[in-house]
Amino acid sequence: MIQPAAPSWKLPAALAAALLAGALLGWLANRHVAAGIALVAVAEVVLLLTRNRHQTRLMMTAPVASDPLQHDRFMTRSRRIASNLRDVRNAASQLPDAVVLIDRQQQIRWFNHAAEDLLGLRRPHDRGVLLQQRLAGSELADWLRDGARESLNDVVAPGQAESQLSVSLLPFGDHEQLLLARDISHLNRLEQIRRDFVSNVSHELRTPLTVIHGYLELIDADDVPELAPVLGEMRAQSKRMGQIVEDLLTLSRLETQHEVVDERVPMSGLLSTVRKEAEALSQGRHRITLESTAEADLLGSPKDLHSALSNLASNAVRYTPAGGSITIRWQREGDGAVYSVIDTGFGIPASHLARLTERFYRVSSSRSRDSGGTGLGLSIVKHVLNLHQAQLQVESTPGAGSTFSCHFGAARLLVAGGSDEM
Ligand code: ADP
Repeated sequence: MIQPAAPSWKLPAALAAALLAGALLGWLANRHVAAGIALVAVAEVVLLLTRNRHQTRLMMTAPVASDPLQHDRFMTRSRRIASNLRDVRNAASQLPDAVVLIDRQQQIRWFNHAAEDLLGLRRPHDRGVLLQQRLAGSELADWLRDGARESLNDVVAPGQAESQLSVSLLPFGDHEQLLLARDISHLNRLEQIRRDFVSNVSHELRTPLTVIHGYLELIDADDVPELAPVLGEMRAQSKRMGQIVEDLLTLSRLETQHEVVDERVPMSGLLSTVRKEAEALSQGRHRITLESTAEADLLGSPKDLHSALSNLASNAVRYTPAGGSITIRWQREGDGAVYSVIDTGFGIPASHLARLTERFYRVSSSRSRDSGGTGLGLSIVKHVLNLHQAQLQVESTPGAGSTFSCHFGAARLLVAGGSDEM
């Protein structure tokens, strides 16, 4: 007599139930973060189902006639397991995110309902078809062909032209892969609303602030000596508000921009302007040196590059105590070039470095305020550099100083006498 292998099913059944519960809980608790984990968990169960179908059939029909009681128990347990697994499979099918299981050759093995809506897959005839071939002509197919190493965001859904997807490909099992696609149209719309709101508020504040600032400038402190300190503070604050509004408008513009108009940016002129501005801000409190050896101009937006490069120099002045030194450097690096500002200032603890380019992020709020900062400077720098395919690098030692470097690639360089002369 063959005994039923019921104990070996306890594990998959428990696993299935636990994964389903985890997936659903994760999904309910935090759609954004847990979505991927939940999907993987559920999909694992689906694979478990697929792999064990044969084994299930064998066990369900195992003869146990010698002991009717044991046989009944076995049948009840089997039915419960089958029902649990059906629930899990149904749950995976109903997930709002698209899940596609592909094999080593990228042949489609399984997909859920959302994959039909978002990716345009059709059952049953898309089973066994090459996913890349099925999505041919879409951005997704190019991404799969190029190895799909990083997640792809804001890609148009092949099955719904008005939706944007965030897609990733995860290794799965021994040779399979899971393609997960999430509809992020709603998030994008919210992000657009946020951007429009900030931009509209900034526009609305601009005029009243200009008027207030204008009137404050008209008042002569000598006429009201007792109000002189108050007047000074009001002028400083209205100037600061004006600067925040201008920086927010600049950021709004940079965020919606996808490319820059390419113009030659003569670096000798730009570097000496940046140095003069830093000297004017420093008022003789620092030693400021310019070292320019690159003999190359940049290709990009003169206004935005000026804003980014001078921002770094003005930060160096504002965060370096009197007596310190600041070096502005422009030099070649491989076939590209690097602009750096090196100071001997307060420095930045390592724990803050990763967040420096976030809006309004400050290492020390009081120091930033006292030095006239808006908290938006490095955010602007990051956006300008992104638009020029350049990278910002920050090295800093608290108490010793900081180096902010902008690394420009060869495509952005116009080397004097080179073939790329405009
Ligand atoms: P802020 O207007 O406050 O200067 P930024 O975005 O330009 O805003 O900089 C963000 C924060 O990074 C600053 O508040 C400051 O704490 C820190 N920071 C920027 N540059 C330097 C520097 N050269 N030395 C030390 N800290 C710096």
